[in-house]
Amino acid sequence: MDRLNHVYLEIHTADILSCNICSFKYCRGACPVYDIVRSEGIAPSGFNHYALGILKGMIHYTPSAAEQIYKCTTCGACRTDGCVAPGFGDPIDTPRIVEAMRAEIVEQGMAPQHVRALAQRILETGNPYGEPPEARGAWLSTSLPSEKQVDILYFMGCAAGYKYPAPAQAALRLLETAGVSVTILGNREPCCGLTLFSIGERKKAAELARRNVEALQVTGVHEVIFSDAGCYRAFKKVYPEELKVSVPFKVYHITEYLERLVLEDRLTFKKKVEKKVTYHDPCNLSIQSGVYNAPRNLLGKIPGLKYIEMKKTRDKTRSVGVGGGFEFIFPEMAKELALKRIEEAKATEAEILVSACPAVEAHLIATTLRPTGLLIQDITELLVEAL
Ligand code: SF4
Ligand code: SF4
Repeated sequence: MDRLNHVYLEIHTADILSCNICSFKYCRGACPVYDIVRSEGIAPSGFNHYALGILKGMIHYTPSAAEQIYKCTTCGACRTDGCVAPGFGDPIDTPRIVEAMRAEIVEQGMAPQHVRALAQRILETGNPYGEPPEARGAWLSTSLPSEKQVDILYFMGCAAGYKYPAPAQAALRLLETAGVSVTILGNREPCCGLTLFSIGERKKAAELARRNVEALQVTGVHEVIFSDAGCYRAFKKVYPEELKVSVPFKVYHITEYLERLVLEDRLTFKKKVEKKVTYHDPCNLSIQSGVYNAPRNLLGKIPGLKYIEMKKTRDKTRSVGVGGGFEFIFPEMAKELALKRIEEAKATEAEILVSACPAVEAHLIATTLRPTGLLIQDITELLVEAL
């Protein structure tokens, strides 16, 4: 085994060996990408089979083989919905193994061209869309306090900054209603770098994480609130656990923060919203960060609202194709995943599909250019309607 070349993968050796003697392969039923490609190579078990070949030196990374390793949204459903690791305890964390392979692919210069282009775009423009940095949050009002005046920062994220500002505008309205003053960095706000990390650019993601933490520390804020589930996961889990960058301030998802305000009677919802609503758990918020109840508890506070759970929910949620750089690398497949999830939402007969991540909603809305009879909103937009 060529250990020197596999510093990222070898820490997963026990999981990789365990998975390779499993004959159940229930994980395939949970994998949204396998569901559309139906290829054993592009399934949790297939990724782990490939990883064993790499570890044993039987195969080597090539750009065309590497292409397959990017056909994973890193959602984690294979771990939480179906994995029966044979006799070794915890389910196999396949997305961590996929991310480890991608880190080695990048370091060996084997990343496919469109993956390299995505990394370059993020590094050059500070966002995965390649939008001009000065246009970030152009919708912002100038009346927000500066960071010298308050010690709470609202971090809008790239999707709300450029593509779908409504959740950020609604979040600011809710915080203001509860008497919480926050500041925003506006077009100085950086990309969190989660996509860089997920596509294997570990060293650049770690540099960015360090710079981001320093930049936020300079502002003197003590709490940071995120609407974007990916940015939240980056600061809460990926920086400290994967990139070894400690985060010296409190980190909240907007749903956690709003739930706290409701419990403290600082925020109440009085207006009836007599609609049937279902909720999509974003993978980065739910499976990857463990936030399941706050959004549901908030929806439960809206008078008149009829809440219906989707069949695949909580840790059995299904990716809409946003995570792991998937929407940028495989846009057509990402659309297929989004359409499948929309069909699952429609099966509940809900009128509104809410989620809790502007990147998820931006992707779902961009996918459904034709009317589907289902309104897609961020949870904060619905909460504003109930004020
Ligand atoms: S993390 Fe998601 S997309 Fe990747 S293999 Fe597992 S279920 Fe499939
Ligand atoms: S991921 Fe889990 S269920 Fe799937 S083949 Fe490996 S051990 Fe078996």
